[in-house]
Amino acid sequence: MPADHLIEADTALARLLALARPTATEDVAIAEAGGRRLAADVTARLTQPPADLSAMDGYALRFEDLPGPLRIVGESAAGHPWHGVLQPGEAVRIFTGAHVPAGADTVAVQEDAERVADSVAFPREGPPGPGAHIRRRGIDFAEDAPLARRGDRIGPARLGLLAAAGLPTLPVHRRPHVMLLSTGDELVAPGTLPGPGQIVGSNGLMLAALLRAAGADVTDLGLVPDSRAALADAIRASAGADILVTIGGASVGDHDLVKPVLEALGARIDFWKIAIRPGKPLMAGTLGDMPVMGLPGNPVSAYVCARIFLLPLLRHMAGDPSPEEQPRMARLETGVAENGLRRDYMRAIVTQRDDGLTVRPAGAQDSSLLSVLARANALLIRPARAEAAPAGTSVPVMLLETPD
Ligand code: AMP
Ligand code: MG
Repeated sequence: MPADHLIEADTALARLLALARPTATEDVAIAEAGGRRLAADVTARLTQPPADLSAMDGYALRFEDLPGPLRIVGESAAGHPWHGVLQPGEAVRIFTGAHVPAGADTVAVQEDAERVADSVAFPREGPPGPGAHIRRRGIDFAEDAPLARRGDRIGPARLGLLAAAGLPTLPVHRRPHVMLLSTGDELVAPGTLPGPGQIVGSNGLMLAALLRAAGADVTDLGLVPDSRAALADAIRASAGADILVTIGGASVGDHDLVKPVLEALGARIDFWKIAIRPGKPLMAGTLGDMPVMGLPGNPVSAYVCARIFLLPLLRHMAGDPSPEEQPRMARLETGVAENGLRRDYMRAIVTQRDDGLTVRPAGAQDSSLLSVLARANALLIRPARAEAAPAGTSVPVMLLETPD
């Protein structure tokens, strides 16, 4: 495809994902596995619950012996089972999570009990039937049962499940290591006051935070002047990373050196003009085996391009089998104008209502406006050539990080 051909965002994303493979797999201690993706299917090492357990504080007994009185012959607490065999006319004091003793078929709750010394009776309401308030062995999962599949994300609940199932380590994909560099002679470090002709190079911090929140290990190589030698040094310093991201200097101006320097270092570069707004030409390619993305320097363009291209690439490399994001639908609160030839990702505010999501543009849409991006919580997607849409129209949105 000619380098200056305008391509659709979906085509660009597919081409980008095709440049990279998931990272190597490793076994990590389960305490370190949260947030990763499984690299293999996982089965239970044990049965849960391991025995019939009481679901309540009360008395273990034989249902046919009710209403009693019954003789209390022992106690079973969580971690301290009673080892006898319950006989007709007997009850065992029992607590939540404790083993139900052999011979008992029911747990009666303590609120229904009338206890006098070593005798207990249930003169009013008792358990509804035999088996009441017992969690049977294996109702959660049995040894060797499949619990999670390759590609599944280990979120908090799944982490709890796999820990309960006795797994000491989990096979996961290595966390992708992203190295970032920002380039531009006008940039000064965040926290520093710019001199004449300078601005704060804020994109590196912003994208590092975005990538870390998405599960990457990030090294920010910092601010690099618009000089071939300095850029070449910084790019060489990225050796060993899983993804290299450059910010700025990716257009075709005299000071846009990222592409020629990468090529001089042996990178294979695709340079795409993508039919989206915001977003200037985006660079994608490989340096050795490492995918390289060149993001535009305009802060909103950098954020949006990272959101729609870099995060799916990261998820793909982290082992997500479907890294593309499916937009949600929301109803327009105000009409929006017709759209031109590029798919537009408008900064927008989505509100949750009783009957679903609604959305309105967050303000002016210039791609330098960080104030508008920071108060937006969504991107409102306007397809290429979309007609003007009145209030009430259902439109696709991508939810962003929630502003505080
Ligand atoms: P460029 O892509 O280098 O042509 O930059 C486009 C615009 O984004 C220019 O106004 C730059 O000053 C600005 N810019 C470039 N890099 C950054 C950065 N790291 N942080 C904030 N603004 C930047
Ligand atoms: Mg520049």
